[in-house]
Amino acid sequence: KELVFSGVQPTGNLHLGNYLGAIKNFVALQDRTDCIYCVVDLHAITVAQNPADLKRSTREVTAAFIAAGVDPKRHIIFNQSQVSAHAELAWVLNCVARIGWLNRMTQFKDKAGKDRENASVGLYVYPVLMAADILAYRATHVPVGEDQKQHLELSRDIAQKFNKDFAETIAAEGFNDGFFPQPEPIISGPATRVMSLRDGTKKMSKSDPSDLSRINVADDADTIAKKIRKAKTDPEPLPTDPKGFEGRPEAENLVGIYSALSGESVEKILAEYGGSQFSAFKNALADLAVAKLGPIGDEMKRISTDAAYIDAVLADGADRADVIASETLRHVRNIVGFVTKA
Ligand code: ATP
Ligand code: MG
Repeated sequence: KELVFSGVQPTGNLHLGNYLGAIKNFVALQDRTDCIYCVVDLHAITVAQNPADLKRSTREVTAAFIAAGVDPKRHIIFNQSQVSAHAELAWVLNCVARIGWLNRMTQFKDKAGKDRENASVGLYVYPVLMAADILAYRATHVPVGEDQKQHLELSRDIAQKFNKDFAETIAAEGFNDGFFPQPEPIISGPATRVMSLRDGTKKMSKSDPSDLSRINVADDADTIAKKIRKAKTDPEPLPTDPKGFEGRPEAENLVGIYSALSGESVEKILAEYGGSQFSAFKNALADLAVAKLGPIGDEMKRISTDAAYIDAVLADGADRADVIASETLRHVRNIVGFVTKA
């Protein structure tokens, strides 16, 4: 049976990349199948978090899911730490995953930076926790941005190795085609990798210290317009053909954002703006971004003021998630060979 799972970290300012790469697809998928959307606070603490900010940010991401259109009654929205199965399954999967596999993860290398010896162990095993998030629900589809592709491949490898390592007890438990499904990434839409507004070779990120590098869902109209006006470009006019983006990542990124927000093809946009300077295009992009993101940001801020409502959504979601994940863990304990209460 199809089941969608995805997560967003409460690590700071939600941005246009999170919206176009992930949250917009969360909304699109909810009419097709059951969805579980998680605010992954356990992932967030793999790098230092201020506790008060973590709470605020957890509620803000929840509000953003709802503001973007996810229905918390039909689907499940919850924060990860309220369902202990995530941490518990992550431990078992830490013993399935290989150090060699984790050593290949590029996000760890990026996030740990030069001082790798000083990175948390949690940051290193982050992708195993992500596998546990997905597999705790035996989810089949995972909508994410392009940057998560490698982690999804690791999740598939972990699922496969678990199925193989424990094939005998999995069969004894009554599962004939392995216990965990191979989760498939859904990386779709024209903006699966939105780049920084300051550097077209780096992805837009919550953790970028420069606020000018990203458009936040919460930014007001003036701020959005200012950031787009200041966005890095090269001195050439816009190309008339997508081939003209060669070696021009900033231009490609801005046109890609326009395409994702408007639903128009890149060709059509270049037919209109190709050959002219960036200023007119940037004005149009700013208007478009304000028109599309503004209402979501306003709604997010409105919902964010009602902490009691948000906490009730998360508690209800956690209760419903816990039912599914506990059932998975009950099987996992038997499969692995743990003695359990009758
Ligand atoms: P951090 O820098 O703390 O890792 P982040 O911006 O990468 O923050 P995450 O919470 O790690 O945000 O990711 C949430 C979702 O947003 C994931 O599905 C991820 O793939 C997607 N995403 C993140 N950045 C981008 C981007 N620049 N373009 C498209 N999708 C993105
Ligand atoms: Mg990230």
